Amino acid sequence: MLEPVADMTKLGSKPSGSLDGRPAPRSYAGSTTAVVWFRRDLRTGDHPALSAAVRSYERVVCIFVWDPSLLSRTGQPRLRFLAGCLSSLDRDLGSAMGKGLVQLVGEPETVVPDLARTVGADVVYVSADFGPYGSRRDNAVESALGADGARLVRVGSPYAVPPGKLSTSSGAPFQVYTPFWKAWRQQGWQQPIPAPPETLLAKITRAGVGNDVRVPEVAPCVHPLPPPGEEAAHGRLESFLAGPVRGYKDQRDLPGVEATSRLSAYLRFGCLHPRQILSRLDPTGRGEQVFEKELCWREFYADVLWHRPDASNQPYRAEWSRLEIDRGPLADERFEAWAQGRTGFPIVDAGMRQLRSEGWMHNRVRMITASFLVKDLHLDWRIGASWFMEHLVDADLASNQLGWQWVAGCGTDAAPYFRVFNPTLQGEKFDPKGTYVRRYVPELAGVSDMHIHRPHELAGSLLAPLDYPQPIVDHHAERDEALTRYSRMRA
Ligand SMILES: Cc1cc2nc3c(=O)[nH]c(=O)nc-3n(C[C@H](O)[C@H](O)[C@H](O)COP(=O)(O)OP(=O)(O)OC[C@H]3O[C@@H](n4cnc5c(N)ncnc54)[C@H](O)[C@@H]3O)c2cc1C
Repeated sequence: MLEPVADMTKLGSKPSGSLDGRPAPRSYAGSTTAVVWFRRDLRTGDHPALSAAVRSYERVVCIFVWDPSLLSRTGQPRLRFLAGCLSSLDRDLGSAMGKGLVQLVGEPETVVPDLARTVGADVVYVSADFGPYGSRRDNAVESALGADGARLVRVGSPYAVPPGKLSTSSGAPFQVYTPFWKAWRQQGWQQPIPAPPETLLAKITRAGVGNDVRVPEVAPCVHPLPPPGEEAAHGRLESFLAGPVRGYKDQRDLPGVEATSRLSAYLRFGCLHPRQILSRLDPTGRGEQVFEKELCWREFYADVLWHRPDASNQPYRAEWSRLEIDRGPLADERFEAWAQGRTGFPIVDAGMRQLRSEGWMHNRVRMITASFLVKDLHLDWRIGASWFMEHLVDADLASNQLGWQWVAGCGTDAAPYFRVFNPTLQGEKFDPKGTYVRRYVPELAGVSDMHIHRPHELAGSLLAPLDYPQPIVDHHAERDEALTRYSRMRA
């Protein structure tokens, strides 16, 4: 539960200003001071903005802002994970020695300049944010700081190659993944830099900030979340590299097997930078090569969204806004069945329940559940995407919205619109023994392997599972319906 927020104006008095109207000079106890504003970069290792600040300034105040407009869109598991990452960062920044991370609550445009003024900083360092909201917010903070005689300095980004850096030979943004991937590899990235040494971290201070800021209290949650923070992220990377990465190429599509890295939440909050992963991959390993390509999808989608911020809520391909979408009470009922994992299609239900119970879903199952919403239920991809955004701990606007658009067929590199996943066959192919389904749909625990993805065929027999719904739609009929709608849209 979120608590009422502290008023940033209590942090310190506004500068009185000089008689000629210019801002008061920036200094605190005669020292030069910088602020480092952490956002999607909750770590100390390979953090160019933090390193630049502690190298160049005598005092460094590290902050995180609980931004109400982001809080309202963040589900409890993600908030909980974020809170854990912040505690871990606070420790790493020296909270035991009275230093650490200063947490503020309020509109960044107001609280960041207020804090900079209070501590006498004339510069605020950040890792650049390329998302539509993040860039707007940073531009607003930059103007507010500028009006006050201070600067926002962007150093580094959450990507190995920042969005907007690469373009096709004709200078256009990439719209297709494979050429982007080739250009991305060719561009390359720097080696990660270590965390600043203790002597430089000693410059971190809370002096002048005051202690009257209360941060939101995040209620504990029942989800089995990954352990938060930078150290845990490195631990996860090490255990993935020590074994599973070798089977990644062949097993990453099997949701019943722990074959993927589970690094997405750490990348989301920047507990780990992609450079730190890429620099550890053996370029000759088959699993590593495929894994590197997956990391590149994250960068590709960030690049696409940077060029087309409207793609966060509009189809990338404009003609798709003509597609007929179901609305009304039956559509609402079907959406609810999908969201609660009660569609009668075991792989879809297992995925949706994994999302609700763990704040994460396997990639193959994200594709199957998304396809089901769009192509079997004929619902708007945006309502599915927003459900994912609310419930995923790793929710990332670019990867999520463009991942949904890819499945729906309206995005870049889109899966051909006429390829409609059959959820039963997908289940049989990728979860042949029903290991994954049985884990999340206990009603089906006793069903044989032969029927685990077709429990409806047992209807009327003694073996029929109790309390498991019949399929809410006929897949073959809905597939035909989807193809008819696509032809009408393209006519
Ligand atoms: C409909 C849909 C929605 C998605 N929403 C998100 C989201 O909100 N946040 C998110 O991080 N990923 C999203 N993905 C991509 C992918 O499902 C997750 O990144 C992956 O399942 C995370 O698990 P992992 O870390 O074990 O992945 P691994 O297989 O170990 O991959 C390593 C990393 O590569 C990146 N990656 C892998 N596949 C993709 C991909 N298809 N697109 C973009 N990045 C990828 C991720 O950063 C991931 O952590 C979505 C995919 C689909 C189809």
